[in-house]
Amino acid sequence: MKLLVHICCGPCAIYPLKKVLEGKIEVCGFFYNPNIHPYTEYRKRLDAVKILAEKMDLRIIYNDEYSMEEFIRNTINNVSARCVYCYTSRLEATAKAAVKNGFDFFSSSLLYSRYQDHEQIKHIGLGMAEKFGVHFYYNDFRIGWKEGIRESKRMSLYRQQYCGCIFSEKERYIGTEAG
Ligand code: SF4
Repeated sequence: MKLLVHICCGPCAIYPLKKVLEGKIEVCGFFYNPNIHPYTEYRKRLDAVKILAEKMDLRIIYNDEYSMEEFIRNTINNVSARCVYCYTSRLEATAKAAVKNGFDFFSSSLLYSRYQDHEQIKHIGLGMAEKFGVHFYYNDFRIGWKEGIRESKRMSLYRQQYCGCIFSEKERYIGTEAG
């Protein structure tokens, strides 16, 4: 079994990667997180993933594409539904990369977060699997939430304070009330 694991950020990827590396699986990471705001924050997250790859001795394919404009174009008219677009774009890119690079399964560190819509991610992942003819490796990695946090602190990995896009960066400071 060859598995490509989408990585949104270092801290969220630790537990899923540890779990899949325990099995008889060939694992490779796939970094893709194109809408992080501001760009300096994007670089911090990318650098943290590079550090993690070294510490875990893991091969990672980097899609170092930064397309904030495209994200805004596709979400500005319905900001409250933006996460569905965000999950879809990440999982679609991962499924395509899995097919292109000869993996038979793909998964995502998004399945680790307690702050994301887990069922929606699962649903989109299964849909992408069907669309591109590759399997979606589903696991409820949220069970390892505390372990992932502990490990990221032990590794002194950069830990972000908000989800990532420009809207979540605003909400970090002033919430959603301001529209
Ligand atoms: S809040 Fe997070 S998951 Fe939702 S669109 Fe922004 S970056 Fe993506």
